[in-house]
Amino acid sequence: MKITDITLDRLRYDLDPPLRAAWDPQPRRSVDATIVRVHTDEGVTGIGSGDTMDGFDAFRHLFVGRDPLEVSRHVRAIETCNVHGGHYWPLEAALWDIVGKVVGQPVSVLFGNAARRVPAYASCCVLRSPAERREVAHRVVAEDFRAMKIRIDRDRVEEGVAAVAAVRDALGDDYTIMVDLNQSWRMAGDTAPATDLASIRRLVRRLGELGVFWVEEPLPYADVEGFRTLRAENPGLRIAAGEMLRSMPELLRYLERDVLDVYQCDVVLAVGMSRARTLAELAALKHRAFTPHSWTNGIGVLANLHVAAGVGGGPFFEFPYDAPDWTPQRRDFMLAEPLRVDDTGHLAVPDAPGLGVVLDEDVVERYRVGA
Ligand SMILES: [Mg+2]
Repeated sequence: MKITDITLDRLRYDLDPPLRAAWDPQPRRSVDATIVRVHTDEGVTGIGSGDTMDGFDAFRHLFVGRDPLEVSRHVRAIETCNVHGGHYWPLEAALWDIVGKVVGQPVSVLFGNAARRVPAYASCCVLRSPAERREVAHRVVAEDFRAMKIRIDRDRVEEGVAAVAAVRDALGDDYTIMVDLNQSWRMAGDTAPATDLASIRRLVRRLGELGVFWVEEPLPYADVEGFRTLRAENPGLRIAAGEMLRSMPELLRYLERDVLDVYQCDVVLAVGMSRARTLAELAALKHRAFTPHSWTNGIGVLANLHVAAGVGGGPFFEFPYDAPDWTPQRRDFMLAEPLRVDDTGHLAVPDAPGLGVVLDEDVVERYRVGA
């Protein structure tokens, strides 16, 4: 089998009304998605998405003409592109999609088949008042999620803590609530310093008193010892991070120094599917958790889901959701059907061979940039 071409569909989907995620300096009026298709001489086509694939044209020749099933070689080749180009992990997802289709199995089976469905948490993105957040929390429960994650902005800490307290009050002591501090970060161009360690120590202690399950990215990644301090001081909660660590040596250093409870590298943004499996297995051997970040689109969610379900990731899987602002329809606009959790709050791995991506080709045409 040979790769005959790798094509990119660049889509832009309008958001009306606009979305203002916690990390966005301005309301977002559209979302972009790049769909990678790996075409073969045997008529099997692999699909991936997640990162932008900007600059990939200069590297396409490294893959075209080769056997798509040589995934290990392609993973190493993608890593060699990371210096001068981008992070082309959606290509690896498309290759695994081909492997799954060739052997007639979901990719999660090839990754170990630990589970066919994973409990999902509603990963909320909008900064809301405590009253609004409480309202969304009731909706999240009504839609069967067993857990939810709330963002706290570095400039609105009191409001954020009050929102967590309001949700705890509304949903009771047993409901699982996570909090994401996003390293005090927003988007490209935000050069303001992160919140200092002393303030974060106080904040994490308060979140522990509210029964928070994990606190995510409380500190910038440079502060490895700070993560260790937070873990030692707060034995009742977990420290999660890793979605923005984009090299295995960094992740392995974190693992060796045992500074996190939960490792979250995204398989289409950070280190790819194969490397994430390695990381997940090493974490499991140390009795630490792996559950990937999945904040891209439905195809990226699926790629992450296959790895998480394959390796036995958990205990909860990130499901980007903050209705009415961020809905499965908006996130998965290119899919024939948006992904949804079942009535027990689990996200099921599709039964179809490969990743189980079913595109709505009419939508792809409609939202193609330049169409
Ligand atoms: Mg996060």
